Amino acid sequence: MMNKRQAGKNLTLMSVMARFSTEEAAIRYFEAIRWPKGLYCPHCGNADAKRHYSITANRAKKIRPGLHQCADCRLSFTVRLGTVMEDSHVPLNKWLIGFYMMCASKTQVSAVQLQRQLEIGSYSAARFLRHRIRFALMDLFPKSKLDGTIAADETYLDERIHGRGRSYKGNKTPLVSLVERDGRVRSHIVDVVTGKAITRLLKESASDTACLNTDESPLYNATGRHFATHVLVNHSDEEHGRFDHETGRLATANTVE
Ligand SMILES: [Zn+2]
Repeated sequence: MMNKRQAGKNLTLMSVMARFSTEEAAIRYFEAIRWPKGLYCPHCGNADAKRHYSITANRAKKIRPGLHQCADCRLSFTVRLGTVMEDSHVPLNKWLIGFYMMCASKTQVSAVQLQRQLEIGSYSAARFLRHRIRFALMDLFPKSKLDGTIAADETYLDERIHGRGRSYKGNKTPLVSLVERDGRVRSHIVDVVTGKAITRLLKESASDTACLNTDESPLYNATGRHFATHVLVNHSDEEHGRFDHETGRLATANTVE
């Protein structure tokens, strides 16, 4: 996804509109961002290219563009699934140009402006789009650091690779997630999961007054010292929440999952 600097520097509205004149172009673009190492089923994690199929869009049969069918779990999905663009009928190229407009504009972009410029049928659809884009951008340009009780965990996207064991990490994208108790979530894709990378990321995203909850992985040993408290949660014991009597806080690394 474009960031504020790129939007201002390299892109013009004309170039964005020319590049994403069709919804198909925007779908390909979003898919390349979401699945850089090849498409996988977001329902079951099936990453075998021979085990999912693209379905040709057909308006009469109500088949949406960009629809994929998984042969393993039999469920269908599009790149919108699980994103802010889910539950919307507005074509993805309009979403993308909407993102551009709201990134590039120095002032607020109103729902009426979006409705007119993007030729969206109803005001309520435009308002929905604006609300969701603002929500997505809020997370991209966070104003304040996470604080209070924060659970941190690392997971690997592209979970299942055909013919490889579960421990194989070559085709997986490491993702470090931080979640505030009842609140904000920050997920970061990292190149390699090392204690150093995690420390840098956590110091950037979370306040040093926070109470950090993690599993017992040694990855978090050094990181923990940068925070007010560091509580270890044992996953193997299926402790879904452990009360820490010293701090009076509930340790819940499971919140991230
Ligand atoms: Zn599936």
